[in-house]
Amino acid sequence: ARLANQIAAGEVVERPASVVKELVENSLDAGATRIDIDIDKGGSRTIRIRDNGKGIPKEELSLALSRHATSKITSLDDLEAIMSLGFRGEALASISSVSRLTLTSKTADQEEAWSAYAEGRDMEVQLKPAAHPVGTTLEVLDLFFNTPARRKFLRTEKTEFSHIDELLKRIALSRLDVTINLRHNGKMIRQYRASQTQVQKERRLAAVCGSNFLNHALAVELEHGDLKLSGWICSPQGARAQNDIQYCYVNGRMMKDKLINHAIRQAYETSLAADQYAAYVLFIEVDPHQVDVNVHPAKHEVRFHQARLVHDFICQGLQSALQQGLE
Ligand code: ADP
Ligand code: MG
Repeated sequence: ARLANQIAAGEVVERPASVVKELVENSLDAGATRIDIDIDKGGSRTIRIRDNGKGIPKEELSLALSRHATSKITSLDDLEAIMSLGFRGEALASISSVSRLTLTSKTADQEEAWSAYAEGRDMEVQLKPAAHPVGTTLEVLDLFFNTPARRKFLRTEKTEFSHIDELLKRIALSRLDVTINLRHNGKMIRQYRASQTQVQKERRLAAVCGSNFLNHALAVELEHGDLKLSGWICSPQGARAQNDIQYCYVNGRMMKDKLINHAIRQAYETSLAADQYAAYVLFIEVDPHQVDVNVHPAKHEVRFHQARLVHDFICQGLQSALQQGLE
């Protein structure tokens, strides 16, 4: 069992940041409104993620660590209209096969918290009572301790941490309503506060993208039938200094998509900003049945059934925002 999981881990777990991604997505899927992330040594020694989500019932703890155990898909239609972030039921099994993983959790209707730890070749799961509020903590120690070839591929502590930092920026923007704290070697590095009002959202935007981005940002908010576009686009002057800030989400998932990029570029070009620079944080909402998401973990591609319509909607929406910014 362990070998099969290690092979699967090759797909999911490339470096500490990929572990953090899977675990934070699980926390979000569990409805957490607060996630605390503690990293030691760039994640090669410790990755600890605590959330206040719904928790995992004691009798499901061992199952959560086994392969293809997911609680998130119940029918084929779910697969097509998938909204939750993870659904293949592979992440925890894969991660625990290449680290020392402890899962501690408590649900609201349980009196006690429980800890699960997978050990040995057959990954037999041990359960122990623990102290923990409602929610879940995943602790991943010594990543790749038993796969030295992969451990060797880890970069410096600083580089690995910067991958984690960048990943959490992406996530922090996708879920403005969730508090996210990040510590490295015991020191608080990022505090992203949950935000509801426009003022709070802009404060959060500044925390992630810097106040310079915010100072040049034009708010976007429009709707057309099932399509919604919101977020911020940087004025042409601002974009020149900020062109590393390019975040785009489709139904909450980060995407790097040709069609969307083209629409954004065209909006800048036709707004008297015939320049190669663009900077934006944009959220596109579309009926999940109107898009195909390539669900491979490493890809960020999406196919809209009504591509032309989506393209023009984005382009025109951004044009008018940029136009207003010029006035
Ligand atoms: P997937 O997310 O694809 O279902 P995972 O291996 O990532 O698979 O997780 C397995 C299962 O463990 C999930 O389906 C979920 O039921 C449970 N789980 C994992 N992390 C959490 C968490 N932080 N809070 C609540 N449940 C969790
Ligand atoms: Mg998952």
